[in-house]
Amino acid sequence: MVKNQTQTLVLAVPVYNEQDQIEAFLTQIRTVLSNIDMKWSVLFVDDGSHDATVDRILAFSADNPAIELIVLSRNFGKEAALTAALDHAEGDAVIPIDVDLQDPPELIPKMVEAWRGGADIVHARRHSRRQDTFFKRNSARIFYLLMHKIGDTRLPENVGDFRLIDRKVVLAIREIRERNRFMKGILSWPGFHTVSVNYDRPGRDTGQAKQGFRQLIKLALDGLVSFSVVPLRIWVIIGSMISFFAFVYMTWIILSVLIFGRSVPGYASLMTIILFMGGMQLLSVGILGEYLSQVFIEVKQRPIYLIDSHWGKEDD
Ligand code: UDP
Ligand code: MG
Repeated sequence: MVKNQTQTLVLAVPVYNEQDQIEAFLTQIRTVLSNIDMKWSVLFVDDGSHDATVDRILAFSADNPAIELIVLSRNFGKEAALTAALDHAEGDAVIPIDVDLQDPPELIPKMVEAWRGGADIVHARRHSRRQDTFFKRNSARIFYLLMHKIGDTRLPENVGDFRLIDRKVVLAIREIRERNRFMKGILSWPGFHTVSVNYDRPGRDTGQAKQGFRQLIKLALDGLVSFSVVPLRIWVIIGSMISFFAFVYMTWIILSVLIFGRSVPGYASLMTIILFMGGMQLLSVGILGEYLSQVFIEVKQRPIYLIDSHWGKEDD
């Protein structure tokens, strides 16, 4: 496919209570994209902010036609906000990017170059996670290791949502309407020709990270459950192994009673086995519940997000 200068680039930016960050973000974007030779625009999705985020964006968009804003009816979470952005981003290339400048805009020209070179997806791969806490770094490592071992979709390591996506891939991603929005998985699921560019991930510009410990755990669980059925299946193997050993043990007990006669000892072994089996059963039922809850959410078919208002669309 020939990629030329009449093509458009859309930055898809979810925002939640980021009033102090809008200006710095737009300034930086303007500087970086001023000498890029393609038409570009920014599509903000306000994820139910309680502060002046919407007003700030509207103030900037008044004298800048390259800004579009979708306001969601409440806070749906970053994954849903990003989905809304991808559903409405009509560019030949789309780049999801965080407003806190942790995804460095300086990388965009490089990504566009790689895209023009024929890539359908250009990953921005973090070189280092120096700015992340010890906990976040290592939990991320364990998560990727686990996903790599048991996941169905190959997740690129140290790549966030920050990546350039060609229009045809955006169209493919729009087809994925599951309610459990594990975006890293969803963005990688379609495949296509993918390349990477590297960068160092900086700390947050202003404000606080809005995804705390609980959200990260939830994200990791959602990721595992929606892109792997191994936790569900593994119980077939564990169950059959335990049954096999139980059978061998039973045969041995019967034979020993027949040969050596009846004897009473065995309280300790009985207790351990009962406790162990009880624990295993609860764990497997818990995992079943985890998948069942996903099915439950999925069958309700609720919309992923609701739009309150849409500003700055070209055909308005
Ligand atoms: N965000 C959002 N909805 C939320 C939480 C966050 O749209 O409920 C946006 C936020 O404004 C920012 C991006 O998602 O642009 C990343 O958020 P954050 O920096 O808190 O996440 P982290 O960098 O820890 O992944
Ligand atoms: Mg951040």
